[in-house]
Amino acid sequence: MTVEPFSAVEVIAAKRDQRRLTKAQIDWVIDAYVRGVVAEEQMSALAMAICLNGLDTGELACWTEAMVETGEKMSFAGLGKVAVDKHSTGGVGDKITLPLAPLVASFGVCVPQLSGRGLGHTGGTLDKLEAIPGWRANLKAEEMMTQLGSVGAVICQAGPGLVPADQRLYALRDVTATIDSIPLIASSIMSKKIAAGADVLVLDVKCGSGAFMQDLVAARQLARTMVDLGQAAGILTTALVTDMSVPLGLTAGNALEVREAIEVLAGGGPKDVVELTLTLASEMLAGAGLDQADPAAALAGGQAMDTWRSMIRAQGGDPDAPLAWGREHEVVIAPADGVLSGLDARAVGMAAWHLGAGRTRRQDRVQAGAGVQLHAKPGDALVSGQKVATAWTDRPELLPRALEVLNAAITIDRVAKPTNPPAGANRPGREAASGLILDRVVF
Ligand code: URA
Repeated sequence: MTVEPFSAVEVIAAKRDQRRLTKAQIDWVIDAYVRGVVAEEQMSALAMAICLNGLDTGELACWTEAMVETGEKMSFAGLGKVAVDKHSTGGVGDKITLPLAPLVASFGVCVPQLSGRGLGHTGGTLDKLEAIPGWRANLKAEEMMTQLGSVGAVICQAGPGLVPADQRLYALRDVTATIDSIPLIASSIMSKKIAAGADVLVLDVKCGSGAFMQDLVAARQLARTMVDLGQAAGILTTALVTDMSVPLGLTAGNALEVREAIEVLAGGGPKDVVELTLTLASEMLAGAGLDQADPAAALAGGQAMDTWRSMIRAQGGDPDAPLAWGREHEVVIAPADGVLSGLDARAVGMAAWHLGAGRTRRQDRVQAGAGVQLHAKPGDALVSGQKVATAWTDRPELLPRALEVLNAAITIDRVAKPTNPPAGANRPGREAASGLILDRVVF
C-alpha cells in the first residue's frame, strides 16, 4: 500500500488556521484528490477554507500548476500558425465567441476554442452552436487539428483529459457554495487555458449583476490574477474588464443568440455585440503581432462570414438551415410612455433559464428555440404598448414564472429623457466610450 506523505486533515487545518500551504502539500492534495485518496468532503472543506482565507501568489501559482499536471497538455506548435485563445468569465447574452473565432481566424492565425455547456443563468457556447442542425461539439484531437489547419477556427468541447482535477473540483464547488473565490476561479480557468496550449490569450472578465464578479474592484483583481498566471506560464495574456450589468445584445437563448451572431458576421447586429467583438479581435490580433489588422473590414468584406460557414460545415452543421423558434411566445409591453432605465442582466438570464434555454443539472437537455428577445435597451424611449421583450419557449407551462422574472428585470422611468438615438436612426456599430469596456489589464 502507498504511504501518503501528508494527511488531508493536516492540509485542511493549515488553511483553516491561515497558514501557507507548501508546494509539496498542494501537489499532493490535488493529485490525491484525483486518485480518490482525498475524499469529496475533505476537498470541500479545503475549498471552503481557501474561500475564507485565500491563497497567496506563490500558493496560487503552485495550485494552478498542480491542476494542469493532472491532465494532458495540448500543443498547436506543429500547425505553423500563432494559436490565439479567448475566454469569457461568462455572462447573459454572451455570444461573442461565435463571430469572434471565425473573424480572428480569417487573418490567418488559428483560434482553438474549447468551450463548455451552460449551467444556471449564463448560457454555454456549445449549447448555442448545437441549435444549428447537424453541428457537432465532440471532436477528436486529430479532427480539431485538421480543422485548425484548414479553416483556422474550431469551437468544440474540451475532452475529459483536460485538467480532470478541475472537472471534479468545479462540480464540487458548485454544490458547496465555494464558486465565489478569486483564487479558485482564477486557477480553475487558467489551468484549463494553460493546458489548452495557445500562444496568446485574451480574457474577457465580466463585471455586473449577470457575472461572477459584481463590482469593479473584484473584477479587476480577478483579471490581474489571471493575467499574472498566464504570463508566468509563458502565454501572452491580457484582459478586458467588460460590463455585464445589462445583457449583451438583444438576445439570451441558444438559437436566438446564433441568429444575432450571424447578423454581426453579416456586417450588422447590435452595437454592443459588434463593439465587443471588434475590441476583443483587435486585442487577439495585436497579441499575434498583427497590430495593423482591421477586423471591421473583415466583417464588412465577408471574410469572417466565409470562415464561419466553413467552420460550421467542418463540424457537420448546415450554415443555411433554419434555426428554431420556441413554439409559444408571450410579449412584455411598456405599460406607459417613458425610458427603459434598467434591464437587469441576471434576471434576464434567469428568465431565459426558466423558459428552458439553460439547465439545472448537467444531464438536462436545453431547448434550442427558448429564450428572451429584447426589443429595447437601457436609454431607449418607450411608448405605451410598445414591445419591450418577447419570451419564447416550447413549453407554455414555463411562461408564467419566466414572465414574472422578466418583468422584474425591466425598469421604466416615466420622466427621464432617452439617452439613445431613436430606433431606425443611424446607430453605427463603432462608437467610442460606450461604457461597455471598463478596463484593460496587461502584465
Ligand atoms: N469558470 C470556470 O471554468 N471556473 C470557475 O471557477 C468559474 C468559471
